[in-house]
Amino acid sequence: MNQRNTKQKKLILDILLKDRTHPTIKKIYQMVQEIDSSIGQATVYRNVNKLVEEGKIRRISNLEEAIRYDGNMILHDHFICKKCGRIIDLFDNDYYRLQKKIESKYSVKVEQITNICEGLCNDCCNK
Ligand SMILES: [Zn+2]
Ligand SMILES: [Zn+2]
Repeated sequence: MNQRNTKQKKLILDILLKDRTHPTIKKIYQMVQEIDSSIGQATVYRNVNKLVEEGKIRRISNLEEAIRYDGNMILHDHFICKKCGRIIDLFDNDYYRLQKKIESKYSVKVEQITNICEGLCNDCCNK
């Protein structure tokens, strides 16, 4: 991999580590453009896929919506608001307990638990 590629990948990773809205690929591309408009869409798409393959970021699949991306690889889950599409990180000790339980019961290493809780966020509830 050449140096330019490495730099572009790092830029995308930095964006995803800082931005906690779990952006879509379109949003990631927009944010990349604001920093360096010479990076094309195909490059952004390719690098995002590479980062997923390398386990540095993860995809959050929500069937009704576009795929969203997350740079936080610490075990956590997501709540998705059905109305505004907002994604809230859920850090709950129960996930760690579940991870440990599954690991000891099946002798496996759990890296992610991908449950998605759906409902209405606080803002949408109060509307
Ligand atoms: Zn909402
Ligand atoms: Zn997250």
